[in-house]
Amino acid sequence: MEAHYPFTLPPLPFAYDALAPELNEKTMLFHHDKHFAAYVDNLNKLLEGHPEYHTWSLEKLCQDWPELTEDIRQGVRNNAGGVYNHDLYFKTLAPTPASTPSGALANAVARDFGDVVALKSAMKAAALGQFGSGWAWLVSDCDGRLSIQKTPNQDTPLPLFPLLCCDVWEHAYYLQYQNRRADYFDAWWLLVDWPRVSQTYAEHAASRSRCPQP
Ligand code: MN
Repeated sequence: MEAHYPFTLPPLPFAYDALAPELNEKTMLFHHDKHFAAYVDNLNKLLEGHPEYHTWSLEKLCQDWPELTEDIRQGVRNNAGGVYNHDLYFKTLAPTPASTPSGALANAVARDFGDVVALKSAMKAAALGQFGSGWAWLVSDCDGRLSIQKTPNQDTPLPLFPLLCCDVWEHAYYLQYQNRRADYFDAWWLLVDWPRVSQTYAEHAASRSRCPQP
């Protein structure tokens, strides 16, 4: 999201029932139209009275929130992260996903994990190992190297480059999977839009050339 205040809720790019049976209509409806929408609304309300931050991009808000005035600092941390994370989450799901990464991402997965099975295993371990609410991530660094990260609450892995994220807040799966986070992860994995993730990785190659050199 290159956007800045006022933020808007991106529409779900497919029908609410398009991901069933892995993610059912009720889960998608509440997750997108209630939870995601609330992060957008709350972020706008927090920033409304602070025009000095209206030019800040979403990424800047997510990364530089410690510089914000104290009255909105924690709220913006939580809600800007909520907007950023859910934007990527819904964008990287597809009703008819391709099964594997392609192109440069496929090569990087082979180099950094061995194969896609090992990638899934590492990301699942992060998803299940996140105590309480949070996220599991596939990210790349300045050199294009891939890694798995986990973040609590609505924190992001920025300034690393997020490629793919699994929401492990209970609101992402409880209506359908109750306490079975592992079953939810396996179902979510079947919906990953690898063409899109592969394209994002290729696009990041341009940004990586601007990374600071050690
Ligand atoms: Mn969520």
